Amino acid sequence: MDWRDLDVVREAAEMCRTMWELGWDEANGGNLSVLLTEDERRTLGWCAEGVGEAGLIPDDGLRTLTVPDVPDVLRGRLILVTASGSHFREMTERTDELLGILALPVVGNEAAVVAGLRGSVPSSELAAHLATHAARLETDPAQRVVLHSHPTNVLAFTHAGPDTPREVTLALWRIITEGVMLFPDGVGFVPWCVCGTQRIADATNEQMRTRRIVIWQYHGVLACGDSLRGALGLLECVDKCCHVWLAARAAGTPRPGISDEGLIAVCERFGLTPREGYLSV
Ligand SMILES: [Zn+2]
Repeated sequence: MDWRDLDVVREAAEMCRTMWELGWDEANGGNLSVLLTEDERRTLGWCAEGVGEAGLIPDDGLRTLTVPDVPDVLRGRLILVTASGSHFREMTERTDELLGILALPVVGNEAAVVAGLRGSVPSSELAAHLATHAARLETDPAQRVVLHSHPTNVLAFTHAGPDTPREVTLALWRIITEGVMLFPDGVGFVPWCVCGTQRIADATNEQMRTRRIVIWQYHGVLACGDSLRGALGLLECVDKCCHVWLAARAAGTPRPGISDEGLIAVCERFGLTPREGYLSV
């Protein structure tokens, strides 16, 4: 089969285009990775047989590239990743160049390009994505998606709203009932620092172990999930909460929003556990 016909590939390409249409991924902003399932691996016709000594790296001429610091939990996995410099606007028309599937090595640092990435290389954030997948897998065995984007309302919120994970989470929970329902685990927040550094990766992954979304001040977000629609849905909800938070302030002096008692009642009604220590009971 054509790898671009794989459901997860189509969905990823269409989702990137959607995020561009939302105005979230201007120019080459944003990147995405998805761990493939065993079913998807079989559908692609990629199996562990017939490969070289280094594990999944085949000796049949596939292009290889160096991926440093592959976490043990991801060794041997297939991962779908956006290309370095890719424009989300073009993802559906230029899928073969702007997306690709890598086989991560069982040992060593040489990954194989299984499909796509024609004339391109993976996002420079690939190593950071791998670290985030590994951090999430510590608490969620079904973790599959890491998504980086620049959602407009979230960015505006980082210029006007609170700047700690607890205060950001409470501010957004109080905005609409769906907030605490969609992210009872809360929203992380990393103060501005230069992106692509070990410092921002460490700060992000420390928070990501117990959350699925982290805001980077004045930059964007990293969102995780068990599915593309789950990660995007979470991001849509956080962006919506930020939008309403900003609009309410622009309209005048806002009301306090949903109380702690109200948030607890919502969680009890839907069997959810709000992040420990955030609500006063
Ligand atoms: Zn960015």
